[in-house]
Amino acid sequence: MKMGTVTVEDTDENRQICMKYCGICPNYKKNCLGSHQPDNLFCARGRSNAAQIREQRCFCLACEIFAKNSLALGHFCEREK
Ligand code: SF4
Ligand code: SF4
Repeated sequence: MKMGTVTVEDTDENRQICMKYCGICPNYKKNCLGSHQPDNLFCARGRSNAAQIREQRCFCLACEIFAKNSLALGHFCEREK
């Protein structure tokens, strides 16, 4: 990992952890993010290609991957890294 960049590994384990948070997020449900790619782990795989994502409370701040990787801000499903 380079200084100043954040790299979350795209693993099945991390995808499962992500779904504990993104999977219950109103944003995720409202925009059917599970039907678009990437369908989870946005902090590693990039923003969703779903066209209309509304700003709503983001659950990333409670996620252990968020803390472990010193991520900031959240809303990874809808913003460029
Ligand atoms: S920080 Fe957010 S996008 Fe990343 S794994 Fe956790 S819940 Fe998913
Ligand atoms: S990245 Fe944040 S706002 Fe987007 S679905 Fe996951 S918890 Fe919700």
